[in-house]
Amino acid sequence: MNKVRKPAPQLEGLIPYDPKYLPAEAFLSANENPNDVDAEVRTLIARAIAKVPFNRYPDPLANTLRDLIAEANGLDRSCVLLGNGGDELLFDLALAWGGPGRTFLNLPPTFSVYAANARLTNTTVVDVARRDDFSIDEEAVLARVAEGDIDFVIVTSPNNPTGERARPEFIAKLLAATDALVMVDEAYFEFSRATVRPLLADHQNLVILRTFSKAFSLAGVRLGYILANPGVIDEFLKVRQPYSVDAVSQAIGEVVFENRARFEPGIRQIIEERGRVMEALRTTGGVTPFPSDSNWILFRMEDAGAAWEYLYEHGVLVRDFSSAPLLENCLRATIGTPEQNDLFIRTLRDFVAKRREAQAVLSQGA
Ligand code: PMP
Repeated sequence: MNKVRKPAPQLEGLIPYDPKYLPAEAFLSANENPNDVDAEVRTLIARAIAKVPFNRYPDPLANTLRDLIAEANGLDRSCVLLGNGGDELLFDLALAWGGPGRTFLNLPPTFSVYAANARLTNTTVVDVARRDDFSIDEEAVLARVAEGDIDFVIVTSPNNPTGERARPEFIAKLLAATDALVMVDEAYFEFSRATVRPLLADHQNLVILRTFSKAFSLAGVRLGYILANPGVIDEFLKVRQPYSVDAVSQAIGEVVFENRARFEPGIRQIIEERGRVMEALRTTGGVTPFPSDSNWILFRMEDAGAAWEYLYEHGVLVRDFSSAPLLENCLRATIGTPEQNDLFIRTLRDFVAKRREAQAVLSQGA
């Protein structure tokens, strides 16, 4: 037949996720680590991959890597589950705790994938918007869960794209106040140096999401994991794709996790550079940066759309949120290498200076 019937109704009008990647000299739009894994780790990875049998299915649960992660976190293997990037586990969360007649509490502005997954699974989304400074409206969240109809909540800490971590005291209060499943998305926790992992011991309703994509330079490999109590992991096991974590990714993840201490200096440099870029943005006229516990800085300025264009024309790709809801005139710049950060700051300052000159000419002419 040369025609096809309509797909599922929830796809109507849905726009596929678009990271808006474009080639650039300074690629500061995707919150990746600017440094790839070093040469020695690469050699170890090459050796490990050489031993992978390609004709066999991988271990469905990636148990070797699972054990390494469990041990490092002082947990049993049954408390850990790997996924094809954190993204897969976010989708599994919506499959397992969402669905028709179920409700997800979202705290926008935040990572857009959460709401998209809810929509795909016909899950109702309830928003409790953040305050003007992007802090969580804690009282409003606690009041909303007290109504009793929320099935799952995601608290992103640090929050993408706004930058700050959630207060651990608030997360503890939220966990105690509800039996909803509370995911704390710690995709960037290595840059905030803060985790709520100790709360797992007393809270069956906590699940923590982590990823190898950021601090461990493996965005291209697709490895993420959750930490939770075994009862929660068992539910994720029911919905996951059995072989989503391929054998090559498992081998790479094992080497990188065993060598994770080698990533520390790079993480430290990103944190230091974050301070330097923050100071530079604070002292750039008309630019208001928001505090960051992560590896990027969100900032607001007039004409942010034009600033994005100018930066891009000069080799710097940042993420444009200027027309996103609750993020008007905001751009997000990932912390890159010192040279990339210099190029970003220099170019942004050029834009601000040129705009001022143009305004001065206009006001003289008026
Ligand atoms: N959570 C947050 C807040 C993110 O920003 C991302 C990556 N953009 C992820 C989860 C998923 O990352 P990945 O699939 O690369 O592990």
